[in-house]
Amino acid sequence: MKSNLTTKTNEKIFNIEKIRNDFPILNQLVHNKPLCYLDNAATTQKPQVVIDTINDFYSTTNSNIHRGVHYLSERSTQAYENTRTIVKDFINAKSEKEIIFTSGTTASINLVAQTFGRKFFTVGDEVIITNMEHHSNIVPWQILCEEKKAKLKVLPINDKGELQIERLNNLITDKTKLISVVHVSNSLGTINPINEIIKIAHQNNVPVLLDAAQSIQHIDIDVQKLDCDFLAFSGHKIYGPTGIGILYGKENLLEEMPPFMGGGDMISKVTFEETTFNELPFKFEAGTSNIAGAIGLGTAIEYVSKIGLKNIHQYESELLSAATQKISDIDGIKIIGTAKEKTSVLSFIIENIHPHDIGTFLDFEGVAIRTGHHCTQPVMDFFKIPATSRASFAFYNTLDEIEQLTIALKKTIEVLT
Ligand code: PMP
Repeated sequence: MKSNLTTKTNEKIFNIEKIRNDFPILNQLVHNKPLCYLDNAATTQKPQVVIDTINDFYSTTNSNIHRGVHYLSERSTQAYENTRTIVKDFINAKSEKEIIFTSGTTASINLVAQTFGRKFFTVGDEVIITNMEHHSNIVPWQILCEEKKAKLKVLPINDKGELQIERLNNLITDKTKLISVVHVSNSLGTINPINEIIKIAHQNNVPVLLDAAQSIQHIDIDVQKLDCDFLAFSGHKIYGPTGIGILYGKENLLEEMPPFMGGGDMISKVTFEETTFNELPFKFEAGTSNIAGAIGLGTAIEYVSKIGLKNIHQYESELLSAATQKISDIDGIKIIGTAKEKTSVLSFIIENIHPHDIGTFLDFEGVAIRTGHHCTQPVMDFFKIPATSRASFAFYNTLDEIEQLTIALKKTIEVLT
């Protein structure tokens, strides 16, 4: 299935054949068709170097970190802490103290809700989110608001799936304690104007948490330039393992926040009368963490950095615009999410065909997409639809795969309508 489309970056920057060879899972047949993996917003595939790092860790180095004085423990502590430095450099944080290992974006947001929220929210305080948040950036705030008798406020979106940013200033009051906003929407692909949001928030002395679950793998992020106060992301969306993620927080804020969970590694001294807590970042890392996952994440970030986020963003933008053009040309398909600034996500509905049937039909053509509400039910409610079909792209995808998707969709419509 050769595509007649071309991208500017395809040959120049990417050796796509080599890149695809780095991801062994991509080279297989599904239902006798070449696998066309377009479910990257749900999770990304892992390059061989990440798989090797994890294998190597368990084969040669496995040991618990921080508490051991023996050789293996020192080596695994070094590798774990080395990833903290890799992450710090990757997002340009000021210090390793600002990098907390969590199990993922959801855990990172819950950590902020339950520590920053527990400490700084009182009755009548407000947290602002948006209409396009993932449930992971809604429910933790609802739980906090319930506990504290605080108020959840929602910045609306427009028909294109863009934030009504001009309404933000009016939503902020002297009771607003935090704005928590998604950088890139997982169901619409919208890239939100975070520079503007942070500027408005800071003019009102309100800190901002960025949910970077769908941006960290597509857009170059510099937390100092952005001046965001917290940033959350998941390892598995940036070609790393599942069960590991990051919370970045400005040191002065993290210092003031109480610990999230109590237990090993987060303490300095424990007696039955009193416990003193460990220093940053360990204060927030109770229990044995996903050591192999963290080390694998370090390798994933090094791999992505070698290709370069700017190059990745350009290539993926071209993939998205090619896919948008091809799919808009098919009769009966409506794209949901037509923001001016978008990346890597194409959500759509087809008249008279349920998204689950589309997903199942495409699977038999080798094409893996996701169907459903994508954990963004308020987005579905806004567009008055129960679900969408979502193709989401990574830098290992090709124009030929977009052709495969297009042909499979045309066939779906032919057979199912
Ligand atoms: N926020 C967004 C925008 C997401 O896309 C996701 C994952 N789909 C999450 C949060 C939650 O990430 P995780 O399940 O890795 O914690």
